[in-house]
Amino acid sequence: MSEVFLLKRKKLDSLKKMRDSFSGKEEIMECPKCREKMARQVLAMKKFICPECGHYYAVSARERIELICDTDSFREMDAGLKTRNPIKFPGYRKKLELMRNRTGLEDAVVTGIGKIEGEKVAIGVLDSSFLMGSMGTVVGERITRLAETARRKKLPLVIFSASGGARMQEGLFSLMQMAKTAAAVETFKNTGGLFISVLTNPTTGGVSASFASLGDIMIAEPEALICFAGPRVIQQTIGQELPEGFQRAEFLLEHGMLDMVVKRQDMKSILAKIIRIHSGGKSVK
Ligand SMILES: [Zn+2]
Repeated sequence: MSEVFLLKRKKLDSLKKMRDSFSGKEEIMECPKCREKMARQVLAMKKFICPECGHYYAVSARERIELICDTDSFREMDAGLKTRNPIKFPGYRKKLELMRNRTGLEDAVVTGIGKIEGEKVAIGVLDSSFLMGSMGTVVGERITRLAETARRKKLPLVIFSASGGARMQEGLFSLMQMAKTAAAVETFKNTGGLFISVLTNPTTGGVSASFASLGDIMIAEPEALICFAGPRVIQQTIGQELPEGFQRAEFLLEHGMLDMVVKRQDMKSILAKIIRIHSGGKSVK
């Protein structure tokens, strides 16, 4: 997508927001935990953390990029990639159209090059509001190309995951993306690249079982659900009560599956610090 087009869209978005706030049509969000109601714009200033109870709202890919990347530093890649509905899944095209209109995204991940506290990175962010952040051919291809770009340009790779897993509507083609993305990040790592994987709520299924679990550094947001099969499925299968906090970030940290659980408000500075340490510690503050 050209920069001019991006700028035009940004301008349109902000005009729309302005119009909505003048006409009193601000989007009101209700906290699912404490029921506190708040305008989306106010919540955005609080990094989408409920000021009453500390609940972490889901963050869209674009909002996440705004939270993590330096202002206007992000340049999107591969925005024109579209799925071809490879197994002709009934109703899939319509569903995609609906998702595109609702989210303004072409598919469930946004990838590109940006800066975090001045450090250039290849960054990808999955968006759980687009078909549960599921990985089909487009998500798999964008993640793969991102890892390849990071390798070519010798940039650190940062991926924020939020996903229900492989995309059912693309069948085997979705499952294939697990091997493809895993191979791409491994190749990147084998050439000395630093891959930081950030797992947010929820990271499950085929995404948790492929690239998302292969970070050199594994980070999660507090209380994020991270698993292959969900707790309900496991409980029904083994017929046993599961321990408190099972498959949540803190539980996984305790059991050695994660390196860090990082609060949303600290994420940007922690990422920047890790990147600086790995570039030889030259510019550690
Ligand atoms: Zn709340």
